[in-house]
Amino acid sequence: MTIFSKIIAGDIPCYKIAEDDRYFAFLDINPVAKGHVLVVPKQETDYLFDLDDTLLSGMTLFAKRIAKAQKKAIACRRIGVAVLGMEVPHAHIHLIPLNQETDLNFFKPKQSFSPDEMQAIAAAIRAELE
Ligand code: AMP
Repeated sequence: MTIFSKIIAGDIPCYKIAEDDRYFAFLDINPVAKGHVLVVPKQETDYLFDLDDTLLSGMTLFAKRIAKAQKKAIACRRIGVAVLGMEVPHAHIHLIPLNQETDLNFFKPKQSFSPDEMQAIAAAIRAELE
């Protein structure tokens, strides 16, 4: 079982943003930027582009809904999209609020927010979901 499956199952806590029958979204615990969200399929598949067409296209639409809410909740110009998967072998899309190109940088020291701040960020994004 991957760490993301444990989060989806509720065995490991997370700052949840949304879920439906196929997908789950939560805050990245080591955010590149404030409001950094991960979108994952509930089905355990290592590599994003190994997902079947229906699951992958549905994931894009699920991510779109999250990104729209992030854009309203977090002061930013764009929501950047990244796929790495170097650390966790469970397909996921990074959605990262950006004000400039250099904000999308996984080599910078990660940002740090208190648990209360993370709760508040998650709540602000959830409040903008349609
Ligand atoms: P990568 O597989 O290279 O896309 O990186 C995995 C991402 O998952 C990193 O940005 C981590 O900060 C994030 N991550 C790992 N464990 C957790 C967790 N328990 N809760 C939230 N995010 C996590």
